[in-house]
Amino acid sequence: MLTAERTVPTTCPYCGVGCQMDLHLQDGYIFRVSGRFDNQVNYGNLCVKGRFGYDFVHAPDRLGAPMMRASRDAAFLPAGWDEALDHTAQRLEAVRQEFGPDSIAFLASAKCTNEENYLIQKLARGIVGTNNVDHCARL
Ligand code: SF4
Repeated sequence: MLTAERTVPTTCPYCGVGCQMDLHLQDGYIFRVSGRFDNQVNYGNLCVKGRFGYDFVHAPDRLGAPMMRASRDAAFLPAGWDEALDHTAQRLEAVRQEFGPDSIAFLASAKCTNEENYLIQKLARGIVGTNNVDHCARL
């Protein structure tokens, strides 16, 4: 049986329940995940996603940066966060100016924290001016 060189306490990334878990690492790789008992969220339990769904962490094709392309036919290339966010903000503003705020919709995610979902609806309602905001749990 493999023994962990290191154990890292963390929060499950899959949904807003926020189950507490330990990542067991050997040579920098996660080889096992176990639920933590010292909390009142999951008392050591994990669902199948939290318990077994960690292959993506070491996936070679995992995105490590925003991807942008110069035109519809161009290849996606890595970009910096400032560049990607500035471009997205400019495009959202251009669409809002031309077609109005209700031409834009925001889809949040169960993988986000409650705080992140709150901020998405604040962006939609407070900045863009639309109530078109929904959540992947209703799709
Ligand atoms: S273990 Fe399952 S229920 Fe718990 S946070 Fe992860 S996905 Fe959600």
